[in-house]
Amino acid sequence: MDIKTVGVIGAGQMGNGIAHVMALAGYDVILNDLNEDALKAALAKIEKNMARQVSRSLISEDDMQAGLTRINTSLDVAALGTSDLVIESATENEAIKIKILEGLVPHLNEHAIVTSNTSSISITRLAARTDRPEKFMGFHFMNPVPLMQLVELIRGIATDDDTYQACLAVVEKLGKTAASAEDFPAFIVNRILVPMINEACYTLYEGVGNVASIDNAMKLGANHPMGPLELADFIGLDTCLAIMNVLHDGLADTKYRPCPLLAKYVAAGWLGRKTGRGFYDYRGEGTPQPTR
Ligand code: NAD
Repeated sequence: MDIKTVGVIGAGQMGNGIAHVMALAGYDVILNDLNEDALKAALAKIEKNMARQVSRSLISEDDMQAGLTRINTSLDVAALGTSDLVIESATENEAIKIKILEGLVPHLNEHAIVTSNTSSISITRLAARTDRPEKFMGFHFMNPVPLMQLVELIRGIATDDDTYQACLAVVEKLGKTAASAEDFPAFIVNRILVPMINEACYTLYEGVGNVASIDNAMKLGANHPMGPLELADFIGLDTCLAIMNVLHDGLADTKYRPCPLLAKYVAAGWLGRKTGRGFYDYRGEGTPQPTR
């Protein structure tokens, strides 16, 4: 199947990155959001990030200009009607995603593939709310999209092989690598990564180490580029907690119980970098200070 036009729903931190890489790979992009400011901010961010790639000689000035002209924005989901592939990347909330999908599919051509960039919601359940479960799958990018090599491709129970192969060809055209995953809670990367972060929270909670010793231990002892608590602050502690809850509820195994200390940080609104404080305090000048 020949994919030329890609619709992206949600112009937040992931949606702008997806529009960016799709446009540079030669796809026409229609970026949709219900918030006009989000669309403006996304275009500004894409331009800034592409300019950085030009300054590092990763792309040419011509590539950047051609890429930018391939991106159109729309507040109306009906504008996505010409898409061959749609990637839904709106807020991680099942009710919101279902409403989007139900509003979208009546506008689409019969051949169009619909995907979701969800980090944790069941692909099979979302697919069942469309008119085309066999042409629906998970297309899960990593953050930040232009830099990260992996895309998880997740088949729902009904996803057909043509759909999988068409999405795999898109991943390859982006110059990225696909990992194929079955539809179980949190897929592959978050199934492994987030319980490790949760375990680091338990290690802190039980006083085995403090923030600095835990992060240093994993950086220097396991060769991780970032410590688990620093990484949790980068991802967002609310997101980490939400993924642990999905694993705990979806797999019904006590080994996934969310750490009470993680829940306490979230209850305090200490969500990591995005709120200025998490396992580290980012509000001062200079090096962020551990909060424990
Ligand atoms: P975000 O909060 O930065 O952006 C979400 C965007 O969706 C906002 O601009 C919002 O206005 C828009 N939106 C909400 N309702 C909408 C609607 N009805 N129609 C159109 N747009 C709507 O979120 P994000 O971090 O970009 O995450 C988006 C998706 O990507 C989520 O499903 C998330 O799980 C997934 N994801 C996130 C990460 C990450 O590290 N942040 C990584 C991989 C996947």
